[in-house]
Amino acid sequence: MQQTARTVVIYEHGGPEVLKIEDRPLGGPGPGEVRIRHHTCGLNFIDIYQRIGLYPMDLPHALGMEAAGVIEAVGEGVTHLEHGQRAAYAAAPAGAYSAARVMPAAQVCPLPDGISFDAAAAMMLKGMTVEYLFHRTTPLKRGDTVLFHAAAGGVGLIACQWAKSEGITLIGTAGTDEKCSLAQFNGAAHCINYRTEDFVERVTEITGGKGVDVVMDSIGADTFNGSLNCLKPLGMMISFGNASGSVPLIDIGMLAKKGSLKITRPTLFTHLADHAVCQAMARRLFGKVEGGEVKIHIDQRFPLDQVADAQRALETRQTTGSTVLEP
Ligand code: NDP
Repeated sequence: MQQTARTVVIYEHGGPEVLKIEDRPLGGPGPGEVRIRHHTCGLNFIDIYQRIGLYPMDLPHALGMEAAGVIEAVGEGVTHLEHGQRAAYAAAPAGAYSAARVMPAAQVCPLPDGISFDAAAAMMLKGMTVEYLFHRTTPLKRGDTVLFHAAAGGVGLIACQWAKSEGITLIGTAGTDEKCSLAQFNGAAHCINYRTEDFVERVTEITGGKGVDVVMDSIGADTFNGSLNCLKPLGMMISFGNASGSVPLIDIGMLAKKGSLKITRPTLFTHLADHAVCQAMARRLFGKVEGGEVKIHIDQRFPLDQVADAQRALETRQTTGSTVLEP
């Protein structure tokens, strides 16, 4: 009898009610693939963009981009993983909200013994994002100042700790005073409640009028213009998300007027496309966690059946740190 796996699938874009759980056939891995049984799955904001159709997908489609578990079967040509090995990934195509799946092996990473399945599922996508933001997007050196929005979120709490470990001054923003305290406890040098304070004015004040070297902005519509006004001349705007909606179209000449600013719009998946780079990014992340420089906060945990509640919580700004699903 063919094996099946409980999997979250959408047949249409929409609210959390479009998330359906069904048993899907689970084949054997083909060449270059593995079958992995998930112990824990990660929840990410990209899952919301995919569900609502901001990042359109061919439908029906399974959801979820991050999980950790045990390799059950290895396809021809896969040499970096073996049967029974602990492993974790952030990878496309979506399908990680499931008990098990068959998937391309290239972005699946061997998991060191010192890292739990829960921690791995809570950090692969978010942690490798922080890795590329701090090491691969623009040169950053000790003493530089970065403005980082949503500093108490999943990516945010990792970024706060990462910045501190690299000697970078991180000015965070967050939507409540409690979230600000959490970000500061995790290494943010300052944190601005951007619902009650004008973050541009506060950044100007904190930096003595100089502005910051780099902005890492995943909020998009609500913060984009203000973020540009926080940069020093020659500063770098890294726009890497749109939690509040898409970034407005820009007049490129404005970058000259504001002081020869630079701007980029990176995605994790471009970086992960190179197998060697992906594995190196994971190793640097694992090193930070095993070395105690970065602690992974799992602040919300839901059974897979309650995936709609989990997404609702993330979407309505009720969460801090990482959220995991138990298949
Ligand atoms: P978070 O845990 O950070 O959740 C998003 C946070 O954004 C909320 O908690 C909230 O924090 C803040 N926010 C501000 N405005 C809104 C709004 N209108 N609606 C909802 N949330 C809002 O999520 P993740 O850690 O999963 O991801 C963080 C961001 O990073 C996302 O935008 C994601 O798309 C992006 N990302 C981009 C990647 C890339 O490679 N380009 C890869 C990974 C993530 P508060 O209440 O404090 O304002």
